[in-house]
Amino acid sequence: MTIGEVYDAALKLGREADPRGEDGLRRVLERNRKQYEKLTPDERGEFDRERLEHPYSDTIIAYGEPGRPVRGVLVGIDIDPAEILLADKLRERGVPIDLVISHHPVGKGLAALDEVMHLQADLMHQHGVPINVAEGVMAERIEQVRRSVSPVNHNQAVDMARALDIPLMCIHTPADNLAYQFIKRHLEGKDLDTVGDVVRAIKEVPEYKEALKHSAGPRIFVGSPDRRAGKIAVTEFTGGTEGAKEIYEKLAQAGVGTIVGMHMREENREEARKHHINVVVAGHMSSDSLGMNQILDVLADRGVEITPISGLIRVDRRANVKTENQEQRMKNVAEGIGHAMPEETPVPEEPDAIEEEF
Ligand SMILES: [Zn+2]
Repeated sequence: MTIGEVYDAALKLGREADPRGEDGLRRVLERNRKQYEKLTPDERGEFDRERLEHPYSDTIIAYGEPGRPVRGVLVGIDIDPAEILLADKLRERGVPIDLVISHHPVGKGLAALDEVMHLQADLMHQHGVPINVAEGVMAERIEQVRRSVSPVNHNQAVDMARALDIPLMCIHTPADNLAYQFIKRHLEGKDLDTVGDVVRAIKEVPEYKEALKHSAGPRIFVGSPDRRAGKIAVTEFTGGTEGAKEIYEKLAQAGVGTIVGMHMREENREEARKHHINVVVAGHMSSDSLGMNQILDVLADRGVEITPISGLIRVDRRANVKTENQEQRMKNVAEGIGHAMPEETPVPEEPDAIEEEF
């Protein structure tokens, strides 16, 4: 694969898993195009033309030409300058790292994180909140996130990547979309009476099983195991970062009983509690890993060596697929790098498929 092919594969998977569906995405791109056409030539220079192709402002090739070949990738949930240095070190040791992939956005992907948050209004709408109310509630929160990411040193890791000539990419919302679909389908297929049932169902997924070993398994933030779950909404898995605290009142009115999310700020938890919505927090690194793993399986299938780092719980769902680079894989495993959970990972029955937390 090349860097460009890795990027396109991630975007394609992200689009297929987008909660807005094909039609919803087409409308988003149409709105972006109309916006662009209204701009003066000067303003057009500032417009990110990628917004005409896809809506994922938090998914970018931060450094590196798209044509460069990729034999192996170092992938982490957060990539800081330290991980870029690590990539350089691994290269010295002969590990073929041609690209570093961060899940959480870096560079301008982080600076424009707020742009992907509009997706959340669509998700709330799907659960019965009128779209005008959902957009109204989200508007202030989106502004807040735009302000909160503005003082961050966005380019620190990108600068390091450039200095060492190590290509760097971030894949955020496409992976979160995949995690969202996975959990949604996983829960839909089950008879879940209580909040405890929801937690038990989430724990069946290998990423969460592994997280349990680090005391980072799924937790009930509001409610108790024997409370009835009611209507379950996986509303807090994708859409950039945590939403507006005002949404819980609206979701309660729309009939939602239990929210499943990756993580939750204290002020949001308090609002959910006030409106009697149960909250199950699946876990952050584990949920981010669940999304990334589905993209990484596609890369691995095409012969790319995956080296997980920085919080990524690598689960390979390509049931015993022998790849061309099997020899390199096994060598890396023997050296303690590469596939964290290689062969014995159980294959689930399901789809084959700041201080902001993203
Ligand atoms: Zn995250």
